[in-house]
Amino acid sequence: MKPFEYIAVHTIAEACDALAAHGAETRLLAGGTDLLIELRRGSKKAPRVVLDISGVAEMAGIAESGAHITLGPLTTHAELARSELLREFAPLLGEAAAAIGSPQIRARGTVGGNIMNAAACADTVPPLIALGATVALQSKAGCRELALADLFVKPYQTRANADELLTAVRFPKPGPGARSAFIKLGRRNALAISRLSVAAMLELGKDGRITEARIVPGAAFPTWQRVTEAERLLLGEMPGEPLFASAGRKVSEEMIKATGRRWSTEYKEPGYLRHHQWPAAHAHSPRQHEPARPPAGPPGPLGHQVRL
Ligand SMILES: Cc1cc2nc3c(=O)[nH]c(=O)nc-3n(C[C@H](O)[C@H](O)[C@H](O)COP(=O)(O)OP(=O)(O)OC[C@H]3O[C@@H](n4cnc5c(N)ncnc54)[C@H](O)[C@@H]3O)c2cc1C
Repeated sequence: MKPFEYIAVHTIAEACDALAAHGAETRLLAGGTDLLIELRRGSKKAPRVVLDISGVAEMAGIAESGAHITLGPLTTHAELARSELLREFAPLLGEAAAAIGSPQIRARGTVGGNIMNAAACADTVPPLIALGATVALQSKAGCRELALADLFVKPYQTRANADELLTAVRFPKPGPGARSAFIKLGRRNALAISRLSVAAMLELGKDGRITEARIVPGAAFPTWQRVTEAERLLLGEMPGEPLFASAGRKVSEEMIKATGRRWSTEYKEPGYLRHHQWPAAHAHSPRQHEPARPPAGPPGPLGHQVRL
């Protein structure tokens, strides 16, 4: 590991001051589960300063305010996974967090680090985009808010400036007709990064038909995006397995259009067909407190995690 200066801060204002002074040569340390590996590898981007934000209390925790839920970026995956508030309003996010790494990684790793590291396999990002999340980026000059979907340039690169830090992640509470699901395909049931994932949110009208659909695949496109071509197929229809299968086929087609056929297409293409059959049977209403149930087929210890 190359030597660096270590600075610990305890407020957002202190963090902004430090970033204003050292921005371009600084890396932020939250849980360290991504950063420490990078530092140990001695990557070319090795920082001169490591700014430890893990003690900034105002950036931790999950809060409900009016029509929104706000996540402090220092909220750990374990906290997301056991949150009653998320079980009620955003169960797909709790499920995604529960499927990350191992208990040790979930105890240290944070949602902010997961977002800002911007790895294609980051498991909290597809659910948050499906929830319509925005992020607040703070610097000494002020705060700006942007849609999470607009934060990413490409894997491992965000639009945050060197003097900005992520201070909040916010999303509107889904309505009473909401249904959601998160499904992850990995090589094994634990300590497996996503080879493929999907987050889906549906709104159902009083007649049971789909009035809104958001489908966000993970580790499939060059960057995270909603697949509006597949979402359109669902609008005005009654939920059902054949319908989800046709949406899954569309997601596969759009993925292949965007990335071309690669070695991984062999499992990713059928993966989306299978993935999209499951929400029909296992989607749950955020308001009904339904526990996550495993999909049909070989069940893993985690609700919606699937082995290759
Ligand atoms: C064994 C293992 C298994 C893993 N499994 C999974 C998995 O299944 N799914 C998954 O998605 N990830 C997985 N990860 C990756 C990792 O745990 C997550 O990405 C984690 O959420 C990162 O959070 P952190 O707090 O540890 O970030 P850190 O390592 O502290 O930081 C990561 C990056 O984000 C930046 N950053 C952190 N906080 C902020 C902020 N508030 N503002 C601006 N920049 C910030 C840092 O500067 C750094 O560049 C795994 C990692 C390991 C080591």
